[in-house]
Amino acid sequence: SSSICSVKPHSPKEILRTTFGFSDFRGHQESAVNALINGEDALVLMPTGGGKSLCYQIPAICRAGMGIVISPLIALMNDQVAGLQQLGIRAAALHSELSSYDRQTLWQKLRNHQIDILYISPEGLLQPGFISFSQKQNISLIAIDEAHCVSAWGHDFRPEYRQLASLTELFPKVPRIALTATADQRTRDDILNLLGMNEAHIFVSSFHRTNLFIEARPKGSEIKQLLETLSTHTEGAAIVYCGSRNKTERISKSLHNHGITALPYHAGLSALEKNATLLRFRSGEKIVIVATIAFGMGIDRPDVRHVIHLDMPASPEAYYQQIGRAGRDGEPSKTLLLYGGEDMARARFWLEQSNAPEHEKRTMQSRLESMIALTETTGCRTRALLSCFNEDLSHNCGHCDNCLTPAFTFDGTEAAQKVLSAIYRSGQKLGAVQLANILRGKINDTISRNAYDQLSVFGIGKEHTERWWRSVIRQLIARGAIRTHGEYGSLALHTENARPILRGDEKIFLRKDLTDTIQVKATPSK
Ligand code: ADP
Ligand code: ZN
Repeated sequence: SSSICSVKPHSPKEILRTTFGFSDFRGHQESAVNALINGEDALVLMPTGGGKSLCYQIPAICRAGMGIVISPLIALMNDQVAGLQQLGIRAAALHSELSSYDRQTLWQKLRNHQIDILYISPEGLLQPGFISFSQKQNISLIAIDEAHCVSAWGHDFRPEYRQLASLTELFPKVPRIALTATADQRTRDDILNLLGMNEAHIFVSSFHRTNLFIEARPKGSEIKQLLETLSTHTEGAAIVYCGSRNKTERISKSLHNHGITALPYHAGLSALEKNATLLRFRSGEKIVIVATIAFGMGIDRPDVRHVIHLDMPASPEAYYQQIGRAGRDGEPSKTLLLYGGEDMARARFWLEQSNAPEHEKRTMQSRLESMIALTETTGCRTRALLSCFNEDLSHNCGHCDNCLTPAFTFDGTEAAQKVLSAIYRSGQKLGAVQLANILRGKINDTISRNAYDQLSVFGIGKEHTERWWRSVIRQLIARGAIRTHGEYGSLALHTENARPILRGDEKIFLRKDLTDTIQVKATPSK
């Protein structure tokens, strides 16, 4: 073999400096590298942008033989390979999109031991042809990137990854390293169990991103709130996450009409359109990408200055990964999450209806509830978010909305009782808008047709705005005192949680929502 190291042995530090041009290892990189060089297994949990790749790239260069990197996406492989080749490293990717010529050339190199790092998909690796070839080779290590994909609990489960359970048997002597940015305990256990890595060294980095400003606000007029936030977008990229494909199209058109360069991105676009958008995104120009979660893995632009969620992610893990795409260059960047009670109720409803196995459903439910709790918290959001990953921050972060403008709370017991009675007396079939109308004593067709104006609760909340009542309703949904039912998402009491409030056994404190004070200019500057 003629790998770099067998010709000229280098220490990891030398390779870091001479090949990669970095002066020092970061965080746990060096320990992870050393574990592999010593032939031991490792699990690396590091936030996006933390520097996971070097943990396997350097040992793959140091150890004799070829390192195999399992990666879920071709785009991701190609990016990594291009970067490595630029540094003069003999890297390649073996995947289904290679031309037959490229495939033949690559196989020739593989047979001649001319590749030091090979990227491959899990299904590619487990093809009999590849297995029988690689079992005869000197394999320096196997890296399992995006290792959370093995976990059915995860937000990114890939069934192909489960077959990696056979790695232990197929390559008993090859050290393995699993890497992920999803750090919760269940995912971690799943990875270690499935990959049979019970002896692995575990390296967990802090997930605290000090350059991210974290903000969450109740949803009002989405487009107005979006424009308001983007009015501070002066350079770099912004990502706006939406819950549906249609919405990405609608919002990006709307931004476009306001003179903002914006492009939609979702799985329904052709490969050509997607690539064109990715190219624009990567070009470095100032641009807004309005996307579904399909815009995800492998998104590696350092100067993403804003990540805005117009719809609530399904879990703190997904939320963390998505906001984590902001500020990878370490510069201050902003994140904003808009949330609404109906969205929460709908998310709960659909999960309830889902046909997923019961245990998966329960996990997804508990993740959703953690996400909802995150939106409503009046404490430091960074602390709340990190605690979802078992990380205790000993202080408040100082870079979230609640730290910078402490949230006010008020005794909302009476208001809550009014809402709950209004729901009960109107037959548990209305949405938040009509309930607010009833409380405020507003007549409309539906109300007079159903004689809701004859109810004792009609007009008992005249002193507050519709917006105020909707905030109370939303917070009661978040607390689980109200749930939705039926396909139209009507609001109903969740009796168990609503009863103590109605009886006055439980005092509840609600968050006073700040009104949007910043006005958006009618004609945005280009
Ligand atoms: P991850 O896979 O954890 O998201 P990457 O491996 O892509 O992160 O690394 C993120 C960025 O940090 C890359 O641009 C990489 O070159 C840089 N980086 C990684 N390790 C170091 C280091 N020790 N010193 C300086 N920059 C580093
Ligand atoms: Zn904070």
